[in-house]
Amino acid sequence: MSEITDIKPSNFIRHIIDADMTENKYGGRFQTRFPPEPNGYLHIGHAKSICLNFGLAMDYKGLCNLRFDDTNPQKEENEFVDAIKTDVNWLGFEFEKNLHYASSYFEQLYIYATQLIKQGDAYVCDLSAEETREYRGTLTDPGKNSPYRERSIKENLELFKRMREGDFEDGSRLLRAKIDMTSANINLRDPAIYRIRRDVVHHQTGTAWSIYPMYDYAHCLSDAIEGVTHSLCTLEFEDHRPLYDWFLRTLKTEHHPKQIEFSRLNLQYTITSKRKLTKVVEGNFVDGWNDPRMPTITGMRRRGYPAAALREFCLRIGVTKADNSVEMDILESCIRENLNENSPRAMAVLDPLKVVISNYPEDKTEQLTAPNHPQNESMGTREVPFSKTLYIDKSDFREEANNKFKRLVKDKEVRLRNAYVIRCDEVIKDEHGEVVELRCSYDPATLGVNPEDRKVKGVIHWVSAKHGIPAEIRVFDRLFSHPHPDTDKDVDDFTAHLNPDSLMTLTHSIVEPSVAKAASNFVYQFEREGYFCADSELSSAGNLVFNRTITLRDTWVKKS
Ligand code: ATP
Ligand code: MG
Repeated sequence: MSEITDIKPSNFIRHIIDADMTENKYGGRFQTRFPPEPNGYLHIGHAKSICLNFGLAMDYKGLCNLRFDDTNPQKEENEFVDAIKTDVNWLGFEFEKNLHYASSYFEQLYIYATQLIKQGDAYVCDLSAEETREYRGTLTDPGKNSPYRERSIKENLELFKRMREGDFEDGSRLLRAKIDMTSANINLRDPAIYRIRRDVVHHQTGTAWSIYPMYDYAHCLSDAIEGVTHSLCTLEFEDHRPLYDWFLRTLKTEHHPKQIEFSRLNLQYTITSKRKLTKVVEGNFVDGWNDPRMPTITGMRRRGYPAAALREFCLRIGVTKADNSVEMDILESCIRENLNENSPRAMAVLDPLKVVISNYPEDKTEQLTAPNHPQNESMGTREVPFSKTLYIDKSDFREEANNKFKRLVKDKEVRLRNAYVIRCDEVIKDEHGEVVELRCSYDPATLGVNPEDRKVKGVIHWVSAKHGIPAEIRVFDRLFSHPHPDTDKDVDDFTAHLNPDSLMTLTHSIVEPSVAKAASNFVYQFEREGYFCADSELSSAGNLVFNRTITLRDTWVKKS
């Protein structure tokens, strides 16, 4: 994949890998995995993990598996499996030959569990959920041994087999690892390894199983089965590492991957937790997982964020062990830099004001030539129709203004982008005193004239009324009005911080005809207004709907 940058940032994970490679620790092999649970859509935090895992595999000439950690059928769906695959591909990574499901190891995981029982390292426990919690103890108090802990191996094997066969009710029994109920690390207090779920249908295995392995058990073993060398995960799994290692050591697996934790990406003014994003979607605060305001990869794609810009962002924020919150500006700079370079220019008037050029012939249309990019000539030119009646943006006109206002003023001149210099001769108002039309005159000698030779104050954009196409434009603000919506102690529920004004719709905008056939997600710079793309769900040939991907500059006023 040549388009993926080959900059290799230094970080603590690379130092560990370099040392392991030097010592030839895994026989020179390098293998990672990206292990999503298919219970929601991927967000920008996952992009960090994807870029890290797939990126390292490319750099160290190794392998990265996409593995679905699908051990909880109640919350998982095929819709999420498909969306995750689409998103990983779109981000620029290939996994087709390295696609796995923890659920395809269920038989092997069952065999491992019976091995644990035979070794005296696991037992079937009949405590209720509540009793199990009581016996577990707390951070300050040790736990107590379950009365079922000393069951015979024979009885455990028999009961575990019957759990599999569906003889027992959900919640009535667990298979637990026999470790240490007094451990300071609660994860080692005889954690559950299998639970009974008789009546759920798993998206991959259907109704084949009545029992499902717990995440901590399935995850490390799936890594080992695949031969992962470095298992990278986020810091919340640090306390689980002793358990990760316990399973692999106790089962003497052929491979024993090294778990390394790094800090999660937190991004200001939004949230990067699937569970919380599910709440935003299910509460109908947005229009689905792919709403352009969402920090999901699918939402960002629909909004017009380029995949390369997201990869660049993941590179810039780096990988550390320090928990922090990344400023939105960093993401937005990556988006702007990419779009400034790659987006063709076009003109659109968001809030139209009619302009009639009094001295321009009634039926004439001229096709003026405009460059698609101010610096990059290879992006070519396009034709922009000019005629007697135009629209300019309301904010580009004032009846009176001081010298700082470099746009159109009554009795003064302005240059129309890619076209002529016009002068405003007359202002027409409605009965409420609102300006509804300008009568202007144009100077035919000013087309293509070097601006140095014909100085006017400013340049404004415009669209020919007869040729322009009406469009709806959706303008977005931050999804949350608090920089840390989910850690603010002052509110019980992070949804209290949702920004009620995060979506504004402009219904009277006019775009130049060349953008009418824009493919969805193809981003233009509408000159002086920002970057925009046709919405993949709402836009059609007869009903153009554009999303504002991002403003030209950071015009966001920090509210905190
Ligand atoms: P959430 O807690 O947001 O629901 P998750 O961790 O449960 O997310 P998984 O599907 O388990 O989501 O995550 C897949 C991988 O992505 C894991 O290795 C996880 O550590 C990593 N990951 C999840 N969120 C982030 C984040 N914000 N920053 C970096 N990596 C993340
Ligand atoms: Mg998780």
